[in-house]
Amino acid sequence: MINKSQFPILNQTINGKPLVYLDNAATTQKPQLVIDAICNYYQTINANVHRGVHQLSEQATQAYEGARHKVAKFIHAYSDKECIFTRGTTESINLVADAFVLPRLKAGDEVLITHLEHHSNIVPWQLACQKAGATLKAAAINQKGEVELESFKNLISEKTKFIALNHVSNALGTINPVKEMIAIAKSHDIPVLIDGAQATPHVAIDVQDLGCDFYAFSGHKMYGLTGIGVLWGKAALLENMRPYQGGGDLILHVSIESSQFAPLPNKFEAGTPNIAGSIGLGAAIDSLLQVGYETINKIENELLNYATECFQALPGFTIIGTAEHKSSVLSFVHQHIHPHDLGTILDAEGVAVRSGHHCAMPVMDFFDVPATTRASFSYYNTREDIDALMNGLQKALEVFN
Ligand code: PMP
Repeated sequence: MINKSQFPILNQTINGKPLVYLDNAATTQKPQLVIDAICNYYQTINANVHRGVHQLSEQATQAYEGARHKVAKFIHAYSDKECIFTRGTTESINLVADAFVLPRLKAGDEVLITHLEHHSNIVPWQLACQKAGATLKAAAINQKGEVELESFKNLISEKTKFIALNHVSNALGTINPVKEMIAIAKSHDIPVLIDGAQATPHVAIDVQDLGCDFYAFSGHKMYGLTGIGVLWGKAALLENMRPYQGGGDLILHVSIESSQFAPLPNKFEAGTPNIAGSIGLGAAIDSLLQVGYETINKIENELLNYATECFQALPGFTIIGTAEHKSSVLSFVHQHIHPHDLGTILDAEGVAVRSGHHCAMPVMDFFDVPATTRASFSYYNTREDIDALMNGLQKALEVFN
């Protein structure tokens, strides 16, 4: 069983206190398994992929394509070629905005998102809409931080050309009913992208069962490296898209006048890819499956319930985001203490949390707060970690009283 002891970075002190890492929604720590996979790649088979006939290049290519196969199985893709390696969720969304949506968008059209999105799932659509003279619409949320399905349905019209939704909110932890929302979109024949950045560490993903057209996620949120992510898309759609970037690796033939593009997935992987990152992602998937989502959910739900319960005893605090279906996030504010002060006091206690708008300013605006303090949990966290968080918050109350 993979647990805290297999994450070397967690075994240290910060400000003289044992590190309690509760910033997992920003990025997760890496198990030894992932670190070993990357070291092993660089120590034994480092070479560029796809082009070489020498042995190292063949081995690197096999490892790179092997990682793609793991990704495809992990999300239940129809085939490996539908899984494009990108720099992360942000690049995956930009790829779809630029290469799929923009060429199909006309003045007067609309793109639909929700009020719960990360900026990565807002700004690319604003840019595409601005270029095309289209309008970006956002479904409303309620006081619990849940998307209002009536608002979502009411905003769909014949003008709606694309829908992009997050699976799990990074700011509040809300798990959105994406399968139901995708079905609604599909009843209007509208293509849908799901931003799965916060879902893959906590929820088993089956893109076939979800019924979406594109699914985007990042390696570093799920125990892999930064700078690697995935765009999954239905082959029929990807095949009809123009490349997102030009360069080597994505071509069959180039003359000065024109180029003939390689088949999927290479058409969308211009230049030398993040080979080590992809191999690390494959190892991160192995580590997640080794623990299993059932165990992950059991541990993380217990931690979330325990933390939510402990919170009731703390005066002056309010939890922001109380959705019925919630993943491992506790976002909160205090009536007098600024979130950044809370973050600083917790840091002095060795507790790492995040204070800020969490790249979800529309969510902050809705709740009329400039920022929240966010503790976000992983299966490697323990009840003792929650106790350390609560002790830190008690200290903050004493300091500010
Ligand atoms: N969407 C959500 C919901 C996220 O939490 C994040 C990362 N905070 C992103 C998109 C962007 O991911 P990345 O920075 O890895 O591209």
